[in-house]
Amino acid sequence: MLSKKTVKDIELRGNKVLVRVDFNVPLEDGEVMDDTRIQAALPTIQHLLDRDAAVILCSHLGRPKGEVDLNFSLRPVGEYLAELLGKEVKFSEDCIGATAKEAARSLEVGEVLLLENTRFHPGEKANDPEMARQLAILAEVFVNDAFGSAHRAHASTVGVAEKLPAVAGLLMEKEILYLGQVIAEPEYPFVVILGGAKISDKIGVIENLLGMADKILIGGGMANTFFKAQGFNMGDSLVEEDAVSTAEMLLKKAKNKVQLPVDVVLADEFSENAEAKTAPVRNIPDGWRILDIGEETVRLFSQEIINAKTVVWNGPMGVFEFEKFAKGTFGIAQAVADCSGLTIVGGGDSAAAVKQSGLADKIKHISTGGGASLMMLEGKTLPGLAALMDK
Ligand code: ADP
Ligand code: MG
Repeated sequence: MLSKKTVKDIELRGNKVLVRVDFNVPLEDGEVMDDTRIQAALPTIQHLLDRDAAVILCSHLGRPKGEVDLNFSLRPVGEYLAELLGKEVKFSEDCIGATAKEAARSLEVGEVLLLENTRFHPGEKANDPEMARQLAILAEVFVNDAFGSAHRAHASTVGVAEKLPAVAGLLMEKEILYLGQVIAEPEYPFVVILGGAKISDKIGVIENLLGMADKILIGGGMANTFFKAQGFNMGDSLVEEDAVSTAEMLLKKAKNKVQLPVDVVLADEFSENAEAKTAPVRNIPDGWRILDIGEETVRLFSQEIINAKTVVWNGPMGVFEFEKFAKGTFGIAQAVADCSGLTIVGGGDSAAAVKQSGLADKIKHISTGGGASLMMLEGKTLPGLAALMDK
């Protein structure tokens, strides 16, 4: 259970409420390309409006370098949100200073204001106390609903929470309930699926889950480093040389818990149009690289997945961005969709892959957080959550 207060635990009527949302969405020419994170913030916004609060939203978007860069303006997101809410969303061109102060002051109950990108100020990532203070004076209550940013101690996630009564939003609550339950008391059999490009991002997750999970199924580019540790030549495949010894150590520790692919799809170049052929895992000839898991591996992994009571999946099984090398990832998505247990997908690319597969609504929980969900799976405390008031 969530040990932190949420928006359901406090009186909000007539208050100005500053909400840290995660509106870090992909934009192209000012158009929102994927609105998942905006949709995910709606329940909290609606909850606050229903309770006669004045709602002030803030977020980061992309990686502007601590200065104003209108390529990363949240203005188009505000316009998009206004359509979803069916009501006006005011906009402040700065998230702090006189502009923000005046916009917040004149905001009335039932109205929504979006502040410009918090990362237009260097104080955001530095968790500068002055920036946190300037955010805090805009409101009487702080709500953190930005699960996707909760693994970072920034001014708008941690600094401001220390200066106002601070509670979790409904998305934050939901994310913590699902991921927290997996860590605290998973139902067995518990199967973890890991993939993606690099093993180095996920060593902490493997170490933490080795003790808990029944099986860790490993695919994607990270499997190559394990193969290398087993002594195979990987041809032109992606291998993290620095991590080979760690992979060797993990394999020793894991005994038979870690299951690697038995067959793979090779490509003669890193391209959509590469020649593709399936091969068993052994030495990979130079000029060829592994870009997906093979059919036999999908079949073996699927058997484990279907029978599990808890499944956590982070990281695609191959370069699913290329249609020819997406079969492994989509095959695993099908198995996760067919599993009747608690199924959770975390990670930006994994979530995108599951959506592409058309099976997203057959999965219990697709996390809006990448780094934050990994940090939870590592068994660590999220700074953005720790800063909120205890129940
Ligand atoms: P997530 O965002 O879900 O946490 P990652 O960012 O860790 O996932 O990994 C996703 C990336 O891994 C994808 O862009 C995918 O193309 C890449 N990838 C998967 N398998 C391979 C492979 N065999 N070789 C190179 N890249 C791979
Ligand atoms: Mg990613």
